[in-house]
Amino acid sequence: MTQLFPRCYKTRMAPTPSGFLHLGNVFSFIITRSMARHTGASMLLRIDDIDRDRVKPEYVTDLFDTLHFLGISWDEGPRTAEEYYRDWSQLNRLARYQQVLRQLRGTGAAFACDCSRADLHRAGIESGCVSDCRRRKIALDTPGTNWRIATDHQQTVCINNPDGHVSAHVLPASVKDFIVRKKDGLPSYQLVSLVDDVDFGIDLVVRGHDLWPSTLAQVYLANLLGIETFPVAKFVHHPLVNGPGGVKLSKSAGDTAIRNLREQGFTREQVLEMAIKSADPAGLAFPL
Ligand SMILES: [Zn+2]
Repeated sequence: MTQLFPRCYKTRMAPTPSGFLHLGNVFSFIITRSMARHTGASMLLRIDDIDRDRVKPEYVTDLFDTLHFLGISWDEGPRTAEEYYRDWSQLNRLARYQQVLRQLRGTGAAFACDCSRADLHRAGIESGCVSDCRRRKIALDTPGTNWRIATDHQQTVCINNPDGHVSAHVLPASVKDFIVRKKDGLPSYQLVSLVDDVDFGIDLVVRGHDLWPSTLAQVYLANLLGIETFPVAKFVHHPLVNGPGGVKLSKSAGDTAIRNLREQGFTREQVLEMAIKSADPAGLAFPL
């Protein structure tokens, strides 16, 4: 099948250990593994753990248990929870992320935002800046502020699809003025994901449709930083696994947590089949 797709160098699975792995995660792993095979790419296991409020040790343990149970292999990255904590946690790379934040500061594109959760709640939105922080030019060193990118929604972001087609888009409202540094001083998911993909040489990104706005934000950020490798990477956005009634699965969806399915006696083959069937692979542009 490799003739259908251009040769790629490296892709990655990038789970966040903020819940027990469920069928949706497994479906994403299967597709990533499949795309790696089709393109000849090697596979990195990256654990997105920068969001300290959500990550728990039992979820890290579950992640390795589940990957080993399913027989999903990878070529680079931690083999065990111990290796992950010691060598691969994103917390080990904070100096690198801070370096990029300093670079961003130099571009003049970042602004500090002191909007609180209460401000957002009053405005009836979940994220974004609801005040005129952009115009107020709050000092970036002000404690307790988010750093946001002053996004331009007229600017075009180009995305490379695996079939060679390049599509042009503008940033959706959901990533307007997206955050690059959080109030606690830690880098945001958007920044960390981009920097890791660049530093680890990822040129094939496979992720769920729900991360489409993040893809656009990250390519936008790469353009801002003058990073040329990331915008030319290939991007694949796959369908999501839906729970009963078409509801999006959350990690609290215990019914589809792999550990629960294992306790009920489901085999590796049955779990893999359930994951594939749950996500309507008929909608995919390539065979699994
Ligand atoms: Zn604000």
